[in-house]
Amino acid sequence: MARKKIIAGNWKMNMTPSQAVELVNTLKPLVANDAVDVVFCVPAIDIIPAMEAAKGTNIHIGAENMYFEEKGAYTGEISPAMLVDAGVKYVIIGHSERREYFAETDETVNKKVLKAFEHNLTPIICCGETLTQREQGVTIDFVRQQIKIAFLNVTAQQAASAVVAYEPIWAIGTGKVATTEQAQEVCKAIRDCIAEIYDDATAAAIRIQYGGSVSASNASELFAQADIDGGLVGGASLKPDFGQIVNY
Ligand code: PGA
Repeated sequence: MARKKIIAGNWKMNMTPSQAVELVNTLKPLVANDAVDVVFCVPAIDIIPAMEAAKGTNIHIGAENMYFEEKGAYTGEISPAMLVDAGVKYVIIGHSERREYFAETDETVNKKVLKAFEHNLTPIICCGETLTQREQGVTIDFVRQQIKIAFLNVTAQQAASAVVAYEPIWAIGTGKVATTEQAQEVCKAIRDCIAEIYDDATAAAIRIQYGGSVSASNASELFAQADIDGGLVGGASLKPDFGQIVNY
């Protein structure tokens, strides 16, 4: 069965609640494409107004992060049940900015992934190497390690429904997109790693996105690769360009 492409915007720390409503309203007609899954991952405070603005459209509103505990004394955190109650289905886990600025590790990523599945949320699990790692030739080993830890104790059935976003850190927000060959090579390595952990059917089902300076001009070439099932889009998801990316 062909995998349905999934194209997700990652708004990061942009857009106030009223700006979020405005942006959803602007993008709504531009991203109307039922052939792909369209997700806007927005700041927590924007989830409810964005959800309201996206009602009746093909847009899914997702979260950018969540905590791995159920509830309680974790000041400032958002629980999976809160996301579910707000109508969220997708949540980005382990973005490189979370790892870099908020000390998330492969182990916390794994805890969040397990917790997301427990609540029937679909995690968009981020991985990717630094420029130094790429130059040292350890990209594939490093990404495989991230994937192996992220999927510890995840069942095959859960893994089959997951989304992985391969985002080379040097390509994020830099305008320096990976070549299609580089992106395809790592996305294939991730799929092979999933096949080793689970089986071929799980590897064939899991969706793997590329992220890092995806734009209206490079999306179609990237998404045409055999192992690239869509994109996680930062900067360009805040602009009408996102419509062109969704209709690549
Ligand atoms: P970018 O960000 O598209 O602005 O490079 C991608 C991401 O961080 O998810």
